Amino acid sequence: MFEQLEKNLFVFYSSNMGSNVYVLIGKTIALIDTSLKVNAFELTDALHSIGIKESDVDLILHTHAHADHIGCTALFPKAEKRMHKSDAKKVELHDARYTCSNLLNQNEYPKIDSYLKKDEIIEIKPFSLRVVYTPGHTQGSVCFYDENKRLLFSGDTLFEKACGRTDLLGGSEQQLVESLFNIQYLKFDTLLPGHGVVFKGNQQENIEAVLKTLQGKYY
Ligand SMILES: [Zn+2]
Ligand SMILES: [Zn+2]
Repeated sequence: MFEQLEKNLFVFYSSNMGSNVYVLIGKTIALIDTSLKVNAFELTDALHSIGIKESDVDLILHTHAHADHIGCTALFPKAEKRMHKSDAKKVELHDARYTCSNLLNQNEYPKIDSYLKKDEIIEIKPFSLRVVYTPGHTQGSVCFYDENKRLLFSGDTLFEKACGRTDLLGGSEQQLVESLFNIQYLKFDTLLPGHGVVFKGNQQENIEAVLKTLQGKYY
């Protein structure tokens, strides 16, 4: 089931460890992350319920390479699949440890068509997303920032009252702290994370609280 967040924006909450999937409907149709493969039926069913067929999806943006975010990517034949190079290389190598495919019992390595570049702007009118490079949870983690709409799609970098884990292969707590400092300066009112609920409210306070839990180690 999708929940509608605004006119052109929907969220699919996975009922298990799978990631949230965001659908942006503009001049093109884009997904942000695709959950686990075991959610394929539920996800495509939800898309059909809002009138979107698999072949209608033009673009898939990945926040990072973990298996719980790439599981259904291959289901969308016409979509351009994009990811930051540092993570995409691991998908290309079928790296089961880096992508946590071994932990999550999945064997999906979708073809990535092009690499997301730091500060690149992706136009999905009426959305305009800037790629914010936020390594730490993985080496190729990114957030997508819509300055006009004041939205931040944060993947597993930031959640409400928490940040992503850094104990997995490719993780770095110090890098994550630096990334959180960087996104603290962005102006957004809505956090659209990779897991958990969409959170509206004071985002600076949220990031400060998260940083406090890591205080003393880096500053
Ligand atoms: Zn995740
Ligand atoms: Zn992750």
